[in-house]
Amino acid sequence: MPFSEEPRSYSDTRKRTSSEYVKFSPDYRVVLRILNPEARTVWKHWIPEANGGRGLGAVCPNVAPGLNVCPVEQKYSSYPKDDAERREHAARKRFVVNVLDRTPYTTCNSCSERTPAKKNPAGLGKVCINCGQELKGNKYAPLNKVKILEQGPNLFNKQLNVIENMQKEDTGKDITEYDIVFTTTGIGRDRTIQALPQDPVALSDEDFLNPETGEAQALFDLELLAEPASSEEVALMLQGATIEQLNAIRGIE
Ligand SMILES: [Zn+2]
Ligand SMILES: [Zn+2]
Repeated sequence: MPFSEEPRSYSDTRKRTSSEYVKFSPDYRVVLRILNPEARTVWKHWIPEANGGRGLGAVCPNVAPGLNVCPVEQKYSSYPKDDAERREHAARKRFVVNVLDRTPYTTCNSCSERTPAKKNPAGLGKVCINCGQELKGNKYAPLNKVKILEQGPNLFNKQLNVIENMQKEDTGKDITEYDIVFTTTGIGRDRTIQALPQDPVALSDEDFLNPETGEAQALFDLELLAEPASSEEVALMLQGATIEQLNAIRGIE
């Protein structure tokens, strides 16, 4: 494998930010290479109160049947099952995997920021995602940044598993051997993501060099990403704790 064998450290994994997660947008197509043959399954709460009201996800601490240490479950178990607030906080099944974000990016001539080719809201052509200026005659290259793909059963079971099985049967290739193009339409509850496998292409060592620093990139440790939050952390998140406060109780600066 061309990426660094040593996974990212515990503190580096803890300090990950939202920019290290794949985001799907109707504005442009996202191209990903899946790097782990098996995704990790986690049960995660979305806690909208956390991070000063911006919200954070937390892996449920109730990791074994009969375990009742999760402050979210404790708080909402007495609420009616169809209560909106209870449903919003309910743990959801998520799948987590390392990917190489291969989305074509270019540098905008107007604002000098990196951008994918955003659909022009006014019609033809593509525009910069940062400043909205038209991109003309730009050359694109894959972003090649290691990110975390975290999504639910709609994407993993209904699309990626189907692609994996079909490609294995048709070409004998594993899911880590070809890029997949994701096209998003709609937003919120109406959002649908369509995944389309590309022809198999082997990745080179250069593809794994950090586009900003030129250093070889390490993968995230899926075990660490699947690690349950402590009851203490979840309780603090319900009270609005920030990422910095949560890292502090774990002794991470
Ligand atoms: Zn829970
Ligand atoms: Zn721009």
